[in-house]
Amino acid sequence: MVTKSRHSDLDLPSVDIFTFLFKRTNRKFPDSHPIFRDGLTDKTYTFGDVQQFAEDFGKGLRSQYDWQKGDVLAISSLSDIDMPPIIFGTLWAGGTVSTANPGYTVREISHQLQDSGAKCVVTHYSNIETVKEACGTVGIADDHIIILGDKKDSTGRFKHWTSVCDLGKATRFAAQKLDPKNDAAFLVYSSGTTGKPKGVKLSHYNITSNVLQLQVAERFNLTWDGSQTTRDIPLPEPRTGGDKILACLPFFHIYGLNVLALSPLYSGVTTIVLSRFDVDTWCQLVQKHKITYSYVVPPIVLYLAKHPTVSSYDLSSLRMTQSGAAPLTRELIEQVYKRLGIRIKQGYGLSETSPCLYQGAWDSWDVDIGTCGALLPNLMVKICEPFDNSSGDAAAAIPRELGLGETGELHVKGPNVFEGYHGNPKATAECLSSDGWFRTGDVGYINERGNLFITDRVKELIKYKGFQVPPAELEGYLVDFPGVVDCAVIGIYNKELATEVPRAYVVTENPLKPLDIQELQRWFSSRVANHKKLRGGIRLVEQIPKNSSGKILRKDLKAMALAESEA
Ligand code: ATP
Ligand code: MG
Repeated sequence: MVTKSRHSDLDLPSVDIFTFLFKRTNRKFPDSHPIFRDGLTDKTYTFGDVQQFAEDFGKGLRSQYDWQKGDVLAISSLSDIDMPPIIFGTLWAGGTVSTANPGYTVREISHQLQDSGAKCVVTHYSNIETVKEACGTVGIADDHIIILGDKKDSTGRFKHWTSVCDLGKATRFAAQKLDPKNDAAFLVYSSGTTGKPKGVKLSHYNITSNVLQLQVAERFNLTWDGSQTTRDIPLPEPRTGGDKILACLPFFHIYGLNVLALSPLYSGVTTIVLSRFDVDTWCQLVQKHKITYSYVVPPIVLYLAKHPTVSSYDLSSLRMTQSGAAPLTRELIEQVYKRLGIRIKQGYGLSETSPCLYQGAWDSWDVDIGTCGALLPNLMVKICEPFDNSSGDAAAAIPRELGLGETGELHVKGPNVFEGYHGNPKATAECLSSDGWFRTGDVGYINERGNLFITDRVKELIKYKGFQVPPAELEGYLVDFPGVVDCAVIGIYNKELATEVPRAYVVTENPLKPLDIQELQRWFSSRVANHKKLRGGIRLVEQIPKNSSGKILRKDLKAMALAESEA
């Protein structure tokens, strides 16, 4: 059954990102309005600053590097207020931006530079050794490495981004003409939860569409000066003029890139940038700047629910918080509300969808709590029988559609669905059909209110004989056992049974008081159907491997299981 978004369709313009943000005629806030402020130094860029620096940087790229349409600029950096002018300058010059996690090793950065075909790389001086070595392996010369941030290179080997701007200022280049629907603005890399990160090509139109889709989901509740708040939303008003966002998610991931580096230039909301999350600095900044909105991921929600220092700060200005990127339970959201009075709603999306597909609404926050919210405008969705299509002719296979309330794989179609994986037509064909339907690889169901629940990933479903076993469901049971604080379930191959079987990795509350594994097995088996029993056993571990967004890295557990079987 195909379902349309309950929002009316938006009239989405086909326009490049630079024009969309900087040349729009209906902007309400002035050039002098502060948009990005560094959380630690208070250095600030107004809207006008970002535009001016971006144009100068774009001209500098064209004059210094003979920048051509489609050339790729890679940025390996934590979030930094210098990033937006560099990003929008590259787009102005017709380029594509590929953001990279600065925590990557030389090997990982080299892979991304090679895969994306980057021409220049931007990084902090503190990260120069790693980036230089990676550039060396793919033939990028030192003078194509550009430094951002306050610390400059005294040897003169690497240009600072502001000197690229200075060189560009005097030139007379004009912005490149772009085809918004076909030219790639970003080549972002997925998190690599299920394998190597994939290069996801997002067009200008993909991104501008998602910025507008998100504005509707917020019901224009975010306000740059306090005057535009939609009054019928049951949220406290911002107390001091406009909203203020605290940006603590990385700009190198599409979630942070969209909601924290792009959207503020559209909404005009001043955004305080914290390059690396730590709980005390986050609380201090909320208190100091009277932050009203923050975008978070589940590990941060866990801090808000449980960390002792949180209650010593005044966080009462925070009227809205949005979590995404990984599963979050209703219980945890309720704990945070009870403890701090902070409302958290959720969104859901993927790198491949620019990223947001579903978003919670404030007016039904208490009813929909714990769901991923409703489908954004201009999107269609269907739930289909899940099957792993990584081998065989998947694009040709037509999966059976399921009904409301039934659990299956989520397929979506709409303006924010990506163009394909860079240089990987096989992977693209496996998930993107010729008529634009994208298989998300996520398993879930939609309730009668149209809200989405994500329950698992297709690739993570365990196949026990003919049955599908969803690991997240088993994890949900396991954490109910007294003494279990965290857990993860994976499938391991059992030769004698000639099938995959579920195995649990469990973290105990008190490592000095080991769990009675046999008792846990008995308890667990009495709660699940026969095919879901933990036939692969239970292993005690100190912690469950997760990435910084809280995604369980099951591939690491699989490697552990393999090492154990080979030992
Ligand atoms: P890779 O594709 O490289 O294996 P990844 O899918 O984790 O990694 P991202 O694009 O960063 O890379 O993350 C998208 C995924 O995050 C979704 O497919 C989904 O599994 C998960 N996700 C996002 N939001 C939510 C949410 N609200 N609840 C549950 N899962 C979520
Ligand atoms: Mg993915």
